[in-house]
Amino acid sequence: MADNCLFCKIAKGEIPSQKVYEDENVFAFRDINPQAPAHIVIIPKKHIKDLNSLSEGDDLIIGYVQAAAATIALQFPEMKNGYRVVNNCGADAGQTVFHIHYHLLGGRSFGWPPG
Ligand code: AMP
Ligand code: ZN
Repeated sequence: MADNCLFCKIAKGEIPSQKVYEDENVFAFRDINPQAPAHIVIIPKKHIKDLNSLSEGDDLIIGYVQAAAATIALQFPEMKNGYRVVNNCGADAGQTVFHIHYHLLGGRSFGWPPG
């Protein structure tokens, strides 16, 4: 838990969210500003700033978080034909919350390359 981290507070239930999944390592909730019909934010419960800030053992956590995306996608009929998993690392990529997270988006088709 990092002081004043929005996503740490969400994972602890100190700030309300629309939870869709939780296990010992992972918490997932609906994005407050959805960019697709189904837009889920998936975070590790451990506070890690971003993909450039992994400590020893964090690679396992990140793998766990990414695998959870597939489990969570099964909950959403909108994702049965596909979904997108996105990590924004750093300000230039659009990261605004510095607790590592993956966006899970589905329910529409997505362009490539991303904007
Ligand atoms: P990023 O821009 O990759 O750092 O993504 C942060 C995401 O968190 C954005 O898509 C925001 O809409 C979302 N977000 C910010 N505050 C909340 C909140 N209180 N509950 C749910 N999602 C949030
Ligand atoms: Zn945090």
